[in-house]
Amino acid sequence: MEIYNISVRTDKRTQLLDITKIISDFILKSPIAAGLCLVYSPHTTTGVIINEAYDSDVAFDINLFLNNLVPKNNSYRHTEGNSDAHIKASIIGNSRMLPYSDNKLNLGKWEGIFLCEFDGPRQRNINLILI
Ligand code: ZN
Repeated sequence: MEIYNISVRTDKRTQLLDITKIISDFILKSPIAAGLCLVYSPHTTTGVIINEAYDSDVAFDINLFLNNLVPKNNSYRHTEGNSDAHIKASIIGNSRMLPYSDNKLNLGKWEGIFLCEFDGPRQRNINLILI
């Protein structure tokens, strides 16, 4: 098992950031040509998803839906003021497992990998764990 870390910058409070190219480029140079890549975001207010990257409106709509589903203001107790972000991160989950072979991700034609930012903008770490 090998663990690597990449860093990305988000630029909105909530957004789905397409990180497909960053991870594809990483896998292209991986010393292990085939296996599983765990994409893990070690934060309590982010998520990781795989979904359509071809039409960026899909990511926009998912973010819009989550913002409507989990309101920013509610009778939350958490004094940091970002309970909505913690709740969204809990719903989405902070990792996805990706198979790869011949140093290429086995993604579907329209699929991409997104870091879901729920409390940005911030610098975020993503662990890539090759198994
Ligand atoms: Zn918090």
